[in-house]
Amino acid sequence: PQPTPTVAMSVNERTYIMVKPDGVQRGLVGNIIGRFEQRGFKLIALKLVHATPEHLEKHYADLKGKPFFPGLIQYMASGPVVAMVWQGLDAVKTGRSMLGATNPLASAPGTIRGDFALAVGRNICHGSDSVENAEKEIALWFPEGIVQYTHDQAKWIFE
Ligand code: UDP
Ligand code: MG
Repeated sequence: PQPTPTVAMSVNERTYIMVKPDGVQRGLVGNIIGRFEQRGFKLIALKLVHATPEHLEKHYADLKGKPFFPGLIQYMASGPVVAMVWQGLDAVKTGRSMLGATNPLASAPGTIRGDFALAVGRNICHGSDSVENAEKEIALWFPEGIVQYTHDQAKWIFE
């Protein structure tokens, strides 16, 4: 039997993408969703949520103790966020490249942060940094589970 190509394994990879409160206030939700749609990713979960500081401390648990942590939690709790799960080939790494660098000043034009942001503490959008963290974040933000459906475009997007 033919060995399964390694690319096939990450076709169903999932990443957690979140428009932060500044992205919502600045009217960038549609643009950011549009970028993931147009790239070919499948939307499998989406909601607007005003998260509590306790919930955000769990999301950013790895950063607890950093000097910017209290300000980060305050920023993220300052308004609603748009929580999403996108699925597709290499979703985590590609999502990160679509986001740009953590500091928007280092983000290339054409990336979300490179097009819309200037300050690291107001950088518009979150994206998971590993498959393992993506699954943790999906479980944290979508304990209700995600929607199952067939993405009819998939045969035009993947080989
Ligand atoms: N952050 C900050 N100051 C810093 C580093 C990070 O305010 O010096 C914020 C920024 O909003 C960033 C978030 O903390 O997006 C999480 O940091 P991380 O290093 O995980 O960056 P990301 O994965 O979001 O690129
Ligand atoms: Mg991170």
